[in-house]
Amino acid sequence: MEKPRRLFGTNGIRKIVNRELTPEFAAKIGEAIGSFFRQGNILIGYDGRKSNIMLVNAVTSGLLSTGCKVYDGGMAPTPCIQYAVGNHKMDGGVMVTASHNPPEYNGIKVMWNDGVEITSRQEREIEDLFFKERIRLASWECIKQRFSLLGLLDEYRESIKRHINVAEIRKRHYHIVVDAGNGVASLVIPYLARDLGCKVTTINGDIDGTFPGRMPEPRPENLGSLAATITAIGADIGVAFDGDADRSIFVDDEGKVQWGDRSFALIEEDFLMMNQGETIVTPVSSSQVVKDIAEKYEGRLVWTKVGSIIVSHTMKRLKAKLGGEENGGVFYGPHQPVRDGAMSTALILSIMAKADETLSELFEALPRYYLVKDKVVCPTEQKINVFKTLNEEVNHLNPERIDGVKLWFPDNSSILIRPSGTEPIYRFYAEAKTKEKAVKLVKEYKEKLQHLISPREK
Ligand code: MG
Repeated sequence: MEKPRRLFGTNGIRKIVNRELTPEFAAKIGEAIGSFFRQGNILIGYDGRKSNIMLVNAVTSGLLSTGCKVYDGGMAPTPCIQYAVGNHKMDGGVMVTASHNPPEYNGIKVMWNDGVEITSRQEREIEDLFFKERIRLASWECIKQRFSLLGLLDEYRESIKRHINVAEIRKRHYHIVVDAGNGVASLVIPYLARDLGCKVTTINGDIDGTFPGRMPEPRPENLGSLAATITAIGADIGVAFDGDADRSIFVDDEGKVQWGDRSFALIEEDFLMMNQGETIVTPVSSSQVVKDIAEKYEGRLVWTKVGSIIVSHTMKRLKAKLGGEENGGVFYGPHQPVRDGAMSTALILSIMAKADETLSELFEALPRYYLVKDKVVCPTEQKINVFKTLNEEVNHLNPERIDGVKLWFPDNSSILIRPSGTEPIYRFYAEAKTKEKAVKLVKEYKEKLQHLISPREK
């Protein structure tokens, strides 16, 4: 049977510009999206990549050709456009962004009328319209216009402020360093921080699609300038964003980069203190610290497969108000159930102000775990059988099988073993109270898995 052709990956359509993602392709996908929304009102926005206007205009042409009315929201963070889709009662939204991907990429994200990304079933409908040439072009007299929708950045900032105690934060006069990573974060975060009474220092603040400051994915290894700036000027907090500002990674006042599940744990703790017993949604790749905090405040923790859209849809389904990922995605439902870098920044500042503690003290108080990652090569044709046998061998340990296999041990250590979806490898993520234990866990399960892989036939 022929494998169905796919356009959408785990986070919308992402391709290399003018290799696969050409204006022709973008216009055609615009026609398919427009056919899917059946002459609806569509908001379109874009991040700061080099090809943004080229692609926005092409997608817009496609949408217009099917009789949609197009509202241009301009350059903005993805969560700003997502918020505006719901706030302005659009039928759907399109964001031209490649998020954290390298500069040569761009992409297209499609949102439902509440701003949340469409479901995989809806993605398939669009793919079907695209590949089977079922485009519904409008007759000439039904073609509509494009309108500018102004003021979305201000609206978004004001909405975020409604969810925090602005006066309490303003009293502290925090000094914040914003690493916008040459992305669209600089359109919102410095102004939001200023509204919150902060002194703001911005680095990599120019929007530049070549990303000269650092690559658009904020990772501990490329946040050296941010950490050095914080310690050099004695700032209270630093925060770095990905290209479209839906993910944020925090650096404390001592210049220590804190990974996303630790900052999420602070937000989770604050949220559960006020909303005891609520549901928290997080992918299985998140740290044990998220589980510890949920248990401490009797929260109900729901693990999901890895992927931000899965977290959003799980939250919608369960009416959960908080979700978070280890890569710095925080989903704050009272504002919107999508990851949102500006909202996360406001929440962390609010937590600091409420506790009247430094960010390093707040992180210090969280349970400490050591994470060790590793991988094992496994030929693709053996992956399923190896996984089946591994599953049988660990069955007595009552594993979580939502995405790969995750095992928890009584001393609060854990290991996640996941086959890669794209490469012939298995990935291992072990966490424990000591580094030695985490290393030992990875070694033990690596050997177990290697044992199950038969050598390639000559
Ligand atoms: Mg992103």
